[in-house]
Amino acid sequence: MDMKEKIQKKFETLFGGEGDFFASAGRINLIGEHTDYNGGYVFPGAIDKGIVAEIKLNGTDKVHAYSLDYDEYVEFGLNEEDAPNQSWAKYIFGVCRETEKRGGKVEGFNTAFAGDVPLGAGLSSSAALESTFAYALNYLFNNGIDKFELAKIGQSTEHNYCGVNCGIMDQFASVFGRKGSLIRLNCKTLEYKYFPFDPKGYKLVLLDSCVKHELASSAYNKRRKSCENAALAIRKNHPEVEFLSDAKRVWLDEVRNNISGEDFLRAEYVIGEVQRVLDVSDALERGDYDTVGELMYQTHFGLSRLYEVSCEELDFLNKIARQCDVTGSRVMGGGFGGCTINLVKDELYDKFISIAIEKFSVKFGHEPKVYDVVISDGARKL
Ligand code: ADP
Ligand code: MG
Repeated sequence: MDMKEKIQKKFETLFGGEGDFFASAGRINLIGEHTDYNGGYVFPGAIDKGIVAEIKLNGTDKVHAYSLDYDEYVEFGLNEEDAPNQSWAKYIFGVCRETEKRGGKVEGFNTAFAGDVPLGAGLSSSAALESTFAYALNYLFNNGIDKFELAKIGQSTEHNYCGVNCGIMDQFASVFGRKGSLIRLNCKTLEYKYFPFDPKGYKLVLLDSCVKHELASSAYNKRRKSCENAALAIRKNHPEVEFLSDAKRVWLDEVRNNISGEDFLRAEYVIGEVQRVLDVSDALERGDYDTVGELMYQTHFGLSRLYEVSCEELDFLNKIARQCDVTGSRVMGGGFGGCTINLVKDELYDKFISIAIEKFSVKFGHEPKVYDVVISDGARKL
């Protein structure tokens, strides 16, 4: 039985009748890491793993929600003081509240939903959940909220109801995602552009190291500070540099002796990454996946050696990819754990996966998880 049928059955048992189906997706980011807070680009796409929800208005002022994956049923009202306790329900409640804050109408509804984005693996299952409901409420109540604002509803839900101070990329990708396309988003101007991504003869696969090192949040703040230091130094010579990503590489060299060696390396990575995103854009237009892959390796090198946010497990997976002649591989996300994203030729896939699982298990005592992904549509009505 597929996910939709299971949901349908449960909805019918719980509420009777049937509603409309909505869906949205998790996301990957091909390239453009640690660039968001430096005013640079990210390059995400929605994936074929997401959330599906059946929803029907119930004529009350309460939401009746059932999560198939948690096997939990929750009822909550729509006022600020009605916030539910279950973490998954907070996302739905938050989306209702943030929709209302933007002048949208929301009334009671029944819903049953399920998903297949692995939780907490860096594929943004939470954005999939938020954008499914943001899109659905906008549709069902005919609120006319534009797509960018739907993404912001998800982001504000994380900030205000789930205690996660995230950027806009995940929700943006989840709402705007389109089959066969990645989206280059400028984090400073919020301009975006679709690029073709349909690598015939290749698979996109994530290897989840299943580790999360504690360093992540303190290191993150230190990296941000280094970037600000470098931008500040460069700005003295080049006042147009608002964010580090506005700087040219030679401008960084000019201030080499005015900033710490560490800040220099961090800035070298960021400025290089901005250029790599532009190079990937050109390569995608040409359908040149060899170049895309090589740039992914360069990003991994930068994140590992210059930005120093990789870890032993991720470097190990990256090295195996190189040894197996995988086209492209890099750590995805903030670092210190999580997944590598790999662009692999079809004929190398089986060998790569079995070697990676075997060698990784021998070294680290557990297997990496494998997630195949295909770039797919984001928020939609089914
Ligand atoms: P991620 O990196 O996957 O977004 P988060 O911790 O931000 O990880 O979000 C995971 C949370 O999102 C879960 O704890 C749960 O509350 C909610 N969630 C995601 N997918 C589902 C699902 N299929 N069913 C119910 N809740 C979900
Ligand atoms: Mg999340």
